[in-house]
Amino acid sequence: MLPRYCRGKLRSAQLFSMSVLIVGGGCGGFTSALTLHRAGIPIQLITREKSFGSANARHVVVAGSAVRILDRLGIGTLFRSYGTPITHGTVENERGSKLFNLDVPRTVGECWVVPRPYLQQLFVEALPSNSVAFSTRLRAIHSHPNVDFVAAELTHSSELRRHGMYPASRSATSRIDANLVIGADGLASAVRGAISRPMLTTSYTSCWNAVAITSDTDKYPMHSFCEIWGSASPDVAESDRPRFGYVRTSKNAVAWRAVFPSTSVLRPFRSKLRDLFNKFPSRIQELLSRTSEREIFRRQLRTLWNDSSIWIDHDSYRIALVGEAGRAGELGTLHHGKCGTSTSLKANY
Ligand SMILES: Cc1cc2nc3c(=O)[nH]c(=O)nc-3n(C[C@H](O)[C@H](O)[C@H](O)COP(=O)(O)OP(=O)(O)OC[C@H]3O[C@@H](n4cnc5c(N)ncnc54)[C@H](O)[C@@H]3O)c2cc1C
Repeated sequence: MLPRYCRGKLRSAQLFSMSVLIVGGGCGGFTSALTLHRAGIPIQLITREKSFGSANARHVVVAGSAVRILDRLGIGTLFRSYGTPITHGTVENERGSKLFNLDVPRTVGECWVVPRPYLQQLFVEALPSNSVAFSTRLRAIHSHPNVDFVAAELTHSSELRRHGMYPASRSATSRIDANLVIGADGLASAVRGAISRPMLTTSYTSCWNAVAITSDTDKYPMHSFCEIWGSASPDVAESDRPRFGYVRTSKNAVAWRAVFPSTSVLRPFRSKLRDLFNKFPSRIQELLSRTSEREIFRRQLRTLWNDSSIWIDHDSYRIALVGEAGRAGELGTLHHGKCGTSTSLKANY
């Protein structure tokens, strides 16, 4: 159950007495944490988020063997009760003509869309109550080839939710010595800095996502997703073409995501998106008008320059990277990054 590269280095007696610090409360970190916990290995997970946010914040699509992993971890049934199944998909061009249909169960297997905070909450509830610390950020990490632990320096913000283990004073700092540190802290990983320094580049592509309130199931049917691919202009790479995708997440709500080659960071997003996607079918304008401006989130897509970066500390074998911390991330299509939630789940199991 430990990452394969660590197993040979540690005797089994050591495995069960070792302390594992996992940095990052995304799908990668939680999958690692629950997998190790189910194997009887004590873990401590820290994440800088003070909470997971509202259900509207972000939805993720979990498909195929990633769903079976949730079953094996014992949270599959609850996961399905929070999610909405997707059985059908359509890809269109910007004039609204169908490019192809996707029979989801046949091509990718069981597929669900779920609010990301709900998935994270499921993991937290399956872990021992004192093993997850919110509002706790990794500041620095120190390892030495001849010492059998890694020292992690942490900063705790005033919203610290951990019960009784660290002082709840404002911006307190502390140190944890762990036998193994798993860096699951995403694309801008602080743990990665202790192993290697690949270049993190910002792409010229922005991604916005939100949830629109609409019960119109003719335009936005249940259990299906739609992606609309704009035409790429000559000076823009094929992968940077504008895209808009949506999926119904409940009777009243449709989650959408827009990708556009733009570095525009200023609000109001809604009116800007209406301009950027004005050639797309009128369904898109309608979704935007049914979305509240303050519910729209924007992210600049970033990628690691060196995709084959090292993801294990070869001096000590006590620091490892998982999920997007160890892999370049970019959105190839709207629903699949190079890493992706499903990939992250599978890689960390
Ligand atoms: C806009 C967008 C939409 C996406 N939608 C989908 C989708 O629908 N389906 C899908 O499969 N994939 C999707 N992806 C990709 C997916 O979100 C990522 O691949 C996945 O979240 C990677 O998981 P992770 O655990 O490696 O990292 P993350 O989810 O990024 O988690 C990193 C965690 O580390 C914490 N952290 C960071 N630094 C520190 C620190 N110093 N100390 C403590 N904690 C720290 C962060 O707070 C965070 O909790 C999307 C990506 C983007 C950009």
